[in-house]
Amino acid sequence: MNTKKFFGKRFGAFLMAIGFALVALIGIFDYLTGPYFSSIILYLVPVILVTWFVGRSAGILTSIASAVSWIAAAVASSPLHHNIIIHFLHLTEKLGIFLIVVYILLELKKEEAASRKLERERRTMISMFAHDMKNPVVITKGFLSRLRSGKAWPLNEKQINYMELMGDELDKLEGFILDFLEFSRFDSKEYKPVPVPFDMAIAMRKHIEAARIEGDKKDIEIFFEIPEDMTAVVNADAVQIDRVIANLLDNAIKYTGSGGTVTVKLLNKGKNMMVQVIDTGIGIQEEHIPHIFDAFYRAVRDSKGSGLGLSIVKKIVEANGGRIWVESEYGKGSAFSFTLPKYASQPVTGFGCH
Ligand code: ADP
Repeated sequence: MNTKKFFGKRFGAFLMAIGFALVALIGIFDYLTGPYFSSIILYLVPVILVTWFVGRSAGILTSIASAVSWIAAAVASSPLHHNIIIHFLHLTEKLGIFLIVVYILLELKKEEAASRKLERERRTMISMFAHDMKNPVVITKGFLSRLRSGKAWPLNEKQINYMELMGDELDKLEGFILDFLEFSRFDSKEYKPVPVPFDMAIAMRKHIEAARIEGDKKDIEIFFEIPEDMTAVVNADAVQIDRVIANLLDNAIKYTGSGGTVTVKLLNKGKNMMVQVIDTGIGIQEEHIPHIFDAFYRAVRDSKGSGLGLSIVKKIVEANGGRIWVESEYGKGSAFSFTLPKYASQPVTGFGCH
């Protein structure tokens, strides 16, 4: 429950005060007239709990119902009781309980609707933010590149240096925004895969070739293992699976030190095909592993990434009917594995496309 909301509403607080006063007064009366001191706790606890967790109105009703049932208990235990009054009070007590239940349900429903609205607004905000951020960055990069070319004014070495640094930071910002845009697309469930027959072996070779450019800079060797005569055709969204492969390979190189290795394996797993990207890099500490596919989660704080890549990768793999997981040993390396359903018909040659 939101305490500020609760105490901020004067009328509600006033009603609650009356409810609590009634409960306390009747509790004292009950204690003085019968052996039921413990009932003070029994009545007050539900009132406090319901108010706290469900809401003010449900709390008010609970306290009124408690007060009524206390009157019933007090009158029933008094030697001066009258049958009709007892029946009337018992009936009121039941009505009170019924009203509490109805109120609790209504409050819960209201809260659910409010949280759904909040979630919708959050998604709209993320996607609007990402869209609006992109253009100014692209335009700034354009002007910066003109300045760097020296067309606007001859530049000295220091100025060129600063501009290069600015350019690097802008590239980073653009990377964040693009990840953010992509994330908002998957987050809003806009993404519907278009499955086509897609040859993983061909795709993998192409990506490994591209990754070798970065790998060579760090003296990282990349190996590719595929069982002989294996047909590696899956039924999946070609464009997005390309993205998954690129992302896992990028990470493997990013988080592996000089002289390390990256091994990509394709394996047959019945109706599925399994892909493994294994590196001899920094590895992931055990406590980070359960969160590694969460959006914005980064195990290494000073890394350049946005922490969105793996969350997008997971969404893509699962939307295409597969599963993804990681095994890692801190300081030794990581193995990211994912599965995808195989294409049931004859193999195709080359890339699948939309
Ligand atoms: P980022 O853009 O930060 O790389 P990712 O979502 O791709 O975002 O990865 C999330 C985090 O998982 C990274 O910040 C890093 O700490 C960790 N991580 C991902 N891949 C590897 C890997 N191959 N080896 C070690 N840590 C990794």
